[in-house]
Amino acid sequence: MKRFLLSLCLFFSLTALAEEQTVVLISIDGFRHDYIEKHDAKNIRAIAEAGVRAEGLIPVYPSKTFPNHLSIVTGQYPANHGIVDNNFYDKERQQRYRMGDGVEDSTWLTTLPIWNLAEFQGVKAATFFWPESEARINGRTASYYYNYSTPTPNRQRVEQIIDWLKLPAAARPRIVTGYFSVVDTMGHRFGPDAHQVKGAVQHVDQLIGELWQRLNNEVDVPVNLILVSDHGMTPIKADQMIDEDSLPVDKSLFETVNSQTRFMLYAKEGTTEAQIAAQRERLLKLPNKTFSIESNQVLSSLGVKPGPRKADIILAAEAPVTFTGRPPESRKDGGTHGFYGNRDMDGIFITAGPAINANAELDRFSNIHIYPFMAELLGLELMTEIDGDSEVLAPLINNN
Ligand SMILES: [Zn+2]
Repeated sequence: MKRFLLSLCLFFSLTALAEEQTVVLISIDGFRHDYIEKHDAKNIRAIAEAGVRAEGLIPVYPSKTFPNHLSIVTGQYPANHGIVDNNFYDKERQQRYRMGDGVEDSTWLTTLPIWNLAEFQGVKAATFFWPESEARINGRTASYYYNYSTPTPNRQRVEQIIDWLKLPAAARPRIVTGYFSVVDTMGHRFGPDAHQVKGAVQHVDQLIGELWQRLNNEVDVPVNLILVSDHGMTPIKADQMIDEDSLPVDKSLFETVNSQTRFMLYAKEGTTEAQIAAQRERLLKLPNKTFSIESNQVLSSLGVKPGPRKADIILAAEAPVTFTGRPPESRKDGGTHGFYGNRDMDGIFITAGPAINANAELDRFSNIHIYPFMAELLGLELMTEIDGDSEVLAPLINNN
């Protein structure tokens, strides 16, 4: 009987999406969960009203651009997709990763992004930018992709997305990604409250409004739009920055990486456990320090796993404090992200379209659950174990 009910459920869920669905996934980098109201994003608000909006999208740790964009398109914590920070060190490879290095060497990435999952199952994919979307993972990319270039006009990205969706069926992608960086750039430079951020939000809101109109009026296939951001933004202060050179770190024993909100020490080959412990003690005993040292317990609760990319000692700042390598005269107030347990780090998640149940209510949730949701919309089988749970967003799919 149970088996019968199960197959009945499967039957209904399959019939609900009998028509092939298309997904357009857009990331607005650094768009904080409350920018819609704060900076009056009318078009994005209208899309949210036509569909579903989460209270917030919780970034993975650390709340940086590359780890989060990869978690959104792989359903994995950074420890499992490989891109554990924007910049990090790998003790086994004895190499540093810097944002975008996967393009030259895709072995930095250790799992399948949604565009590869689609292509493997005969569904065409297109990316007009997404971090690491040019990387040739398992020997392939999306059918259509562009090499990242910041100056590419934002309107051109909208045009191309529409053009792709008007291609004949055999050539048309069913999963398309797009990416806008300007809101993040202005947030870093001026802080989340600045009028320049409002200007950037207004600019992107206009483009998203045009995209939505054109998806509804010019494209013949059923398109579901998903708007996300990788993280939010919070103010930081120039007079509260920790000079990295002031930290008593033995560079003969440790490789260091300054990621602004964290300062990481990786033991070099030959550095002993006792030397790591002694270094940790030295940092802990610093008087009047304005950072903490992450415990393994906290890290493992945030999805961090032991491995060559995990630093041996991680110093963590809390906003408005950051780590800096700049001389005092060139430090500026502004904004950043990378912290955790800070509501300002929440991004947005909004989705609307023919397969979306607009009556669903959605609390804050972790961005690792978006991948299985997209797979379900596209009718794709998951090919690997993932950290994300398909149940979290299942109520968003019509008749599910
Ligand atoms: Zn970002």
